Amino acid sequence: MTQVNINGKLFDRAEAKVSVYDHGLLYGDGVFEGIRIYSGKVFRLHEHIERLYESARSILLEIPWSREKMIEQVLFTVEANKKIDGYIRLVVTRGVGNLGLDPNKCSEPQIIIIVDDISLYPQRMYDEGMEIVTSSIIRCHPNSISPRIKSLNYLNNILAKIEANRAGVPEALMLNHLGEVAECTADNVFVVKHGLLRTPPPNAGILQGVTRDTVIELAETAGITVQEIALTRHDVYTADELFLTGTGAEIVPVVKVDGRPIGSGKPGPITKQLRERYLVLVRQ
Ligand code: PMP
Repeated sequence: MTQVNINGKLFDRAEAKVSVYDHGLLYGDGVFEGIRIYSGKVFRLHEHIERLYESARSILLEIPWSREKMIEQVLFTVEANKKIDGYIRLVVTRGVGNLGLDPNKCSEPQIIIIVDDISLYPQRMYDEGMEIVTSSIIRCHPNSISPRIKSLNYLNNILAKIEANRAGVPEALMLNHLGEVAECTADNVFVVKHGLLRTPPPNAGILQGVTRDTVIELAETAGITVQEIALTRHDVYTADELFLTGTGAEIVPVVKVDGRPIGSGKPGPITKQLRERYLVLVRQ
């Protein structure tokens, strides 16, 4: 039975409940993280915790636990669930308030740690590559809700995901307010061109993915030059290779965008090489 940690106490999954007055539910007022467990070890836990606290700081939400205590509680919950390979969802909400917006009316933030199985893309997508479409939904303007905040307000991404669903593909490419490539609904984007690896910079309206940062490190170790640079749809359509990165997806090749084949129309050699290196790293 799944044990869910709420504010430091474990509850059976069916008993793990929060108030309907919680502003996380009423307004999407809160932050979260998605983290992988590989072979009993939590992958890049410190990086995820750092991003969680940065997201919280950006929305002026003070997490009542220190980073050390948060790490301790995550590890405790993984242990309690005896999870060897799985997924951690860490959520911090503004807490219980009244029906108005004012966060000052909220009591204590609620800290929720769920440890569960992960639902993965089918193996076929890694072997043959994925098809995606460009979404008509523009990624949030950085001066609205910054995409750098991993907030509970994911409607921007969900609307793009609905477009992907309706187009019969698993992901959608989102452009920023300047019309540049930002990211997909839950993954970062990389293109390969003439042996160079290119990805939009954090200020292009993206979440700075932990997987993205890991892939940049792996590429540099492999002697592949990485450029964090603004990309357009032209760069995507004319790329030699294209792939997405994310905690759940890891590294997934993309072979078709808006019905156009990318590169050879098959997963490319640099994508494959980075994916192999990534799988070695996570299993270390
Ligand atoms: N962009 C968005 C919008 C995301 O939600 C995520 C997380 N799934 C990512 C990118 C990838 O980030 P990470 O590699 O840290 O999972």
